[in-house]
Amino acid sequence: MSERCGIPKFATGDILREAVRRDTGLGREAQRFMERGDLVPDEVVLGLVREALASEEAREGFILDGFPRTIVQAEGLEALLAARGTALDAVVFFAVPEEELVRRLSSRRVCGGCGAVYALESDGRRDVGSDCPVCGGALELRDDDRPETVRVRLRVYRENTEALLGWYGRDASLLRRLDAVGTVEEVQEKLLNLLGCS
Ligand code: AMP
Repeated sequence: MSERCGIPKFATGDILREAVRRDTGLGREAQRFMERGDLVPDEVVLGLVREALASEEAREGFILDGFPRTIVQAEGLEALLAARGTALDAVVFFAVPEEELVRRLSSRRVCGGCGAVYALESDGRRDVGSDCPVCGGALELRDDDRPETVRVRLRVYRENTEALLGWYGRDASLLRRLDAVGTVEEVQEKLLNLLGCS
């Protein structure tokens, strides 16, 4: 979507994983939460988003991925947006049944070198230990995609994040529900149509 619409994307999970990989202060602080499948504290994540939105790149618009995940984060985002005099155009809820999420996460493989993502079941050659076709790095299972951590993440979602549906749902034109079951290509087309940027 970022490529097709020409809008920069900021994914809090990607920013945090990069900090862990580079072993920065932020990375060391975040790692213990991420390993368990817990949320990184709101003030840490809000600091990252504040920085992203202040960047030159984000001046004309931005996509936030994996954020907000709590009501406190949504309130913080609202304050950041008010300060720059902008508002959100859309909030997209990707509706996927829980068993399908577990299936997708357990078959996800990521490259330890460049971060490229593969689905084991659509390409069985790309299992742990094989080489990334993009950069030659070794493919891995993401630490938090292990089944026991996936269960924690789903519980954390129900306890902290699901309430955002009600929060954003107060403005009926803002919240868009996307039936996100199907192939990557099908979901991508639905998303671009939904947002009118195909
Ligand atoms: P993701 O790649 O979006 O699945 O995020 C991976 C992990 O990073 C999550 O399980 C959290 O530990 C952490 N994380 C990412 N985004 C957030 C957020 N908005 N709030 C708190 N923790 C986050």
